[in-house]
Amino acid sequence: MTEVLIRGADHLVTMDDARRVLAGADILIRDGMIVDVGHGLTTTGEVVLATGCVVTPGLVNTHHHLYQTLTRAVPAAQDALLFGWLQTLYPIWSRFGPEHMFVSAQVGLSELALSGCTLTSDHLYLFPNGARLDDTIEAAREVGLRFQPTRGAMSIGVSDGGLPPDALVETEAAILEDCIRVIDAFHDGAASSMCRVGVAPCSPFSVSRELMRDAAILARDKGVMMHTHLAENDEDIAYSLSQFGCRPGEYAESLGWVGPDVWHAHCVKLDASEIALFAQTKTGVAHCPCSNCRLGSGIAPVRAMRDAGVPVGLGVDGSASNDAGNLVAEARQAMLLQRVAFGADAMSAMEALEIATRGGADVLGRPECGRIAIGARGDIAIWDVSGVTSAGSWDPAALLLAGPTTVRDLFVEGRQVVRDGHMLTFDLTKAVQRQNVLARALQ
Ligand SMILES: [Zn+2]
Repeated sequence: MTEVLIRGADHLVTMDDARRVLAGADILIRDGMIVDVGHGLTTTGEVVLATGCVVTPGLVNTHHHLYQTLTRAVPAAQDALLFGWLQTLYPIWSRFGPEHMFVSAQVGLSELALSGCTLTSDHLYLFPNGARLDDTIEAAREVGLRFQPTRGAMSIGVSDGGLPPDALVETEAAILEDCIRVIDAFHDGAASSMCRVGVAPCSPFSVSRELMRDAAILARDKGVMMHTHLAENDEDIAYSLSQFGCRPGEYAESLGWVGPDVWHAHCVKLDASEIALFAQTKTGVAHCPCSNCRLGSGIAPVRAMRDAGVPVGLGVDGSASNDAGNLVAEARQAMLLQRVAFGADAMSAMEALEIATRGGADVLGRPECGRIAIGARGDIAIWDVSGVTSAGSWDPAALLLAGPTTVRDLFVEGRQVVRDGHMLTFDLTKAVQRQNVLARALQ
């Protein structure tokens, strides 16, 4: 039996069903699970003092392309719209291989961990030169984050009227076969699971209608979740109307891509009927505010989605379109962006934090994560609010208004991953150096 007691947090933001914020409270984690939350708890195991700190559930990232940490701030892609941006980057990505996937995942996962993230999905949809989903899963094991990799895919290359170069697309038979391989090899459906695999054709404009449909059938047969990009910007809507004769929501529904086992990235351009469809079917949304700003895609109607009952989580999106991967900063951006569009009362700091924690966990089908409650997993972020960023704050629990952007400590499944602002699990400095060597070689 292994116990960790996190003791005496100034503010414990539980995100439990009552959304309690407790002063001076403790959390007891036993064998990876939270077994008690309250005052004056004791243990014979490890004690971590959290005085001077705000303690929250670990944040949850619902959309990323970890491999893109190798292509941040690429000059020709800095100011392009989505489709032009993709066409600039595809040739660079086609030179990646297994080591690029592994190292970029190490770096991207560490960046997330240092910003409070304990559970992240990833959407890997290109597999050049022998790269495999396995490369990112190996990196996640080393870094120590709870991982939800999705086996992405592109099957319609330029010669078939698609966007990606032919060298980056695969046959649909090979895609489905590899989905089955990685699910059978790595998917763990247990509550304590550190790895759940999903199925994720890249987008309606890079795979066929048949693959969308077959992927959904496969995912449901295997009991895994499904993910793709949807309704990201005006070009995306125009493509759907001209190629499929309908809006993205209708296209998704016709192919089985709605339901509580589905989440779509972006959804910036969902209209009222699509929001109602998502609410009714409990289809999830990964809201990616920085990426939407960076690519000029627009402001996702998150206020309307939440009011209608659509499950919404937060995503940093790939580092080619953010270019940062700081999840708590992303939560602040989500709050600010709704306010720009809908007024200062459109989203509170606490609601944005809720989207970033239990909201994301629910979108990923992990209701045992993203909250601090008895029976939930021991995924905890500890934020030191005694420093300069919070000095003078009247309400340190409102972390997104005046809080640090990196954690002091981070626990995943009761295991410490970050201590005093540094990765404990592996040599991040070495990984960053290797990442820079790889990035330079691609230029
Ligand atoms: Zn994306």
